[in-house]
Amino acid sequence: MTILSRFNRTTADWQRLDAAHHLEPFTDYKELHAEGVRVVTRAEGVWIEDSEGQRILDGMAGLWCVNVGYGRRELVEAATAQMTQLPYYNTFFKSTHMPAVELARVLADITPEGLNHAFFNSSGSEANDTVCRMIWHYWDCMGKPWRKTIISRTNGYHGSTVAATNLGGMRMMHKQNRVWPEFQHIEQPYWYHLGHDMEPEAFALKAAGWLEEKILEVGPDNVAAFIAEPIQGAGGVIVPPPGYWAEIQRICHKYGVLLVADEVICGFGRTGNWFGSDTFGIAPDLMPMAKGMTSGYIPLSAVMVHDRVAEVLIDKGGEFFHGFTYSGHPVACAVALENIRILNDEGIVQQVGSDTGPYFEQSLKALADHPLVGEVRAVGLVGAVELVEDKARHLLFGDPGSSHKMGRVGFMCRDHAVKDCGLMVRAVRDAMIFSPPLVITRAEIDDMMSRFKQALDLTAADLGR
Ligand SMILES: *Cc1c(COP(=O)(O)O)cnc(C)c1O
Repeated sequence: MTILSRFNRTTADWQRLDAAHHLEPFTDYKELHAEGVRVVTRAEGVWIEDSEGQRILDGMAGLWCVNVGYGRRELVEAATAQMTQLPYYNTFFKSTHMPAVELARVLADITPEGLNHAFFNSSGSEANDTVCRMIWHYWDCMGKPWRKTIISRTNGYHGSTVAATNLGGMRMMHKQNRVWPEFQHIEQPYWYHLGHDMEPEAFALKAAGWLEEKILEVGPDNVAAFIAEPIQGAGGVIVPPPGYWAEIQRICHKYGVLLVADEVICGFGRTGNWFGSDTFGIAPDLMPMAKGMTSGYIPLSAVMVHDRVAEVLIDKGGEFFHGFTYSGHPVACAVALENIRILNDEGIVQQVGSDTGPYFEQSLKALADHPLVGEVRAVGLVGAVELVEDKARHLLFGDPGSSHKMGRVGFMCRDHAVKDCGLMVRAVRDAMIFSPPLVITRAEIDDMMSRFKQALDLTAADLGR
């Protein structure tokens, strides 16, 4: 076997080898092989570069995760120092290590009141598997083992393991998975699609009411928990209308249902506060987090657990038969600590909340007049621009009488953005999604918007508008 240097192949060689040997996640292989995969080679700040030398402004922060931007030496140095001192040791058998303890302490500090205990894993999906196992264990300890049902939302995304797929509300994923009756779903609070004939505040109460209806349908004493993202990310950046979260929380308390806020995207500054729960004023019982925790430099996730749950597990739980070889990996924890230090010391979270976030929102809203744009949604540095067939008649692509199938125009716009305008954005159905690194400057936001405007115009031209 020979392993060649990384640089002495052509793009076509890499594409051929990739097609021959690599199965990428969430990919239609035949389609990708026909087109040829993009080979990303390096990145700096908010820019990525591919093997053909094209520079692309990364409007997605990788996959919602590179919060402090690319090329931060401090994170490399934190990893190097920890690898040198202690590259690995487990936290299973009455052992721990300093980075894991220190990170647990720091997370207790920056999360909302009462969330004082951390369980570590390596991915958001694993964090949500931990959430399920911990919730069921908790209700066993409480003498109510029948409380098994976990309610979540249509188009919610909680990961891709078997349990996380069930937890999520993605229909296409369910079709390729076992669907378990313990997992029930309610509609998402998608005002533009489901409630635009109502005032947002009235729709908020109606959408939260779907949770109460589901709890009553399942039987309140059978429901273990409700889980949701403060802002639905992969489901299309669905920003809940005002009052939604307060009502959801009220309903959970009324029926003694545990509230889980999946902070995998919203956490670590994305919404202009440390956590989406801060932005929406929620006090969850469990809080899974991942992505921005290490800015994606190394895999790590955690579930933060409230005292009122942790104390039951500690007091009555016996051994919790759950965990991973890499739970609390010392190198990953060291990188997370340095990442959190950067977010804090450089005032990045605060800057998103008071400066770049509002500026981004205002820039995005300026696109609302464009003939293709039906709705603009944004909080902090996460946003969506919803493309529609006919704004005045509120006709969406895919609706009866529209010119294109749902999702077609979104993909056209995405392809123009990436290939013709040097901007990485994502399309969810026909919503164009933004989640740039949190270090993006006002000038870079201007650049991002002019590239996106160009992609919109090219798409409109394709449609003959
Ligand atoms: C990405 C994501 C996950 C899954 O995280 P992985 O690290 O990909 O397993 C879970 N929840 C939310 C909200 C996510 O965005």
